[in-house]
Amino acid sequence: TGQSISNYFTVVTGTRQPGDRDGPEHMYFVLVDNGRTNLVGGDMQEMLRCIRCGACMNHCPVYQTIGGHAYGWVYPGPMGSVLTPSYVGLENALDLPHAATLCGECGVACPVKIPLPDLLRKLREKQVDRGLRPASERLGIRMWSWFAQRPRLYALAARIAARYLRFQGGGLRMINHLPFGKGWTVGREMPAPPGRTFRDLYAKRKGR
Ligand code: SF4
Repeated sequence: TGQSISNYFTVVTGTRQPGDRDGPEHMYFVLVDNGRTNLVGGDMQEMLRCIRCGACMNHCPVYQTIGGHAYGWVYPGPMGSVLTPSYVGLENALDLPHAATLCGECGVACPVKIPLPDLLRKLREKQVDRGLRPASERLGIRMWSWFAQRPRLYALAARIAARYLRFQGGGLRMINHLPFGKGWTVGREMPAPPGRTFRDLYAKRKGR
């Protein structure tokens, strides 16, 4: 993977010509569209350039951490996070456009210059526009927004949360039950934060 030409590359020499020792008399092509033409002219049209080289996957920190099966369909990695919702429907692949840190590595690595981070962002916007995101997430973002507009309160809340999570991690410093994020701890433990926020550490470093 990571090559600049597709794995699925076939050289077809055509039917048997006069002077050829062998070869087929007839040649038929069966094109399986499988929803691809639906992408023509749409927001995701640029994905049709994908040659399935896998470079975006190999540079993706999310793919490197969770592996291919977590993407749940044929295509893993950033290309899968765009292709799968495009083929099976955005409402049937709600998590995939969010399986990215938007670090931009996939867009840089792609040999055919597909702007994968932009496409992932577009899919996220469509989810919001269509009201597909869960109510709990919308409420959480609203709460975060409310706090973020009040910096002192935000800093205080972050300090309390960091200390609480540190306490919850116990001696092993691992959290095995998150009240508002059960999905995280169903199959794995979450490392507890050190108990101090970035602001605390920054202030200490600056001697403030
Ligand atoms: S999106 Fe780009 S980097 Fe990823 S598999 Fe397709 S061609 Fe390769």
